[in-house]
Amino acid sequence: MKLSHPEAAPAPALHTLAAGTNIPVEVRRLDRARRLRLSFRPERGFLLTCPTGTSKAAITVALEQAGPWLRRVWTRHRLEAAPELPQHLHLPAARGTWRVDYQARRNRLSADLLEISANSDPRRALAGLRALLRRLAKLIFLPRATQLAQQHGFVFTGLSCGLQRSRWGSCSSQGLIRLNSVLLFVEPALVDHVLLHELAHTRHLDHSPAFRRLMRELDADDEAHQRALGDAWRDLPTWWWHGGCLPSGPP
Ligand SMILES: [Zn+2]
Repeated sequence: MKLSHPEAAPAPALHTLAAGTNIPVEVRRLDRARRLRLSFRPERGFLLTCPTGTSKAAITVALEQAGPWLRRVWTRHRLEAAPELPQHLHLPAARGTWRVDYQARRNRLSADLLEISANSDPRRALAGLRALLRRLAKLIFLPRATQLAQQHGFVFTGLSCGLQRSRWGSCSSQGLIRLNSVLLFVEPALVDHVLLHELAHTRHLDHSPAFRRLMRELDADDEAHQRALGDAWRDLPTWWWHGGCLPSGPP
């Protein structure tokens, strides 16, 4: 099930400059391009457009030549865009609020506290936060999925929780459900809708009329919930997907 927000596109590949900086560069080869052109998009990193036949080597040379500019823009962007990490998390789907402690000795999840061993490193803080959210998501969503499956006679083979940029959830042909942990930030009724959607895929793997009919039977507010999910991404915190675009090494 797609998450319809404008930044929901695959993360660009990381390119490592000779000086050791990792920068996200999306390379697009275009028929109409006459020459190589570099631009920067704050939410997505750099975009390099070039003529169709441009070799990998030519691209590497171009990026190295632009290296000082790339590093300058990227460093400034990271400073400006470094996500502010939350001290408290209100998670409607988990029906509670968690305090976040970044000075802990190890990462640990308890009833109302997320302990993260960040050692004053914002990257570790973000990674710890994301890891604990995934753990919490599984604790909340697996029992609910099991309950809904029993109630409606579905069989699924497993459930995992990730932090995808572009989907609320998916279901494989083997009946494996994968949910986006950011569902913790939406209302329980919407989580149920996503779970029912993915469980319904264990019967119909497509979005055929039969699937739509089944969804209307399972969820009396099917359309309203679809619309609400379409809007829900606007209320998601920005840091949850930010990590995907941060370079892995120091600038
Ligand atoms: Zn679907």
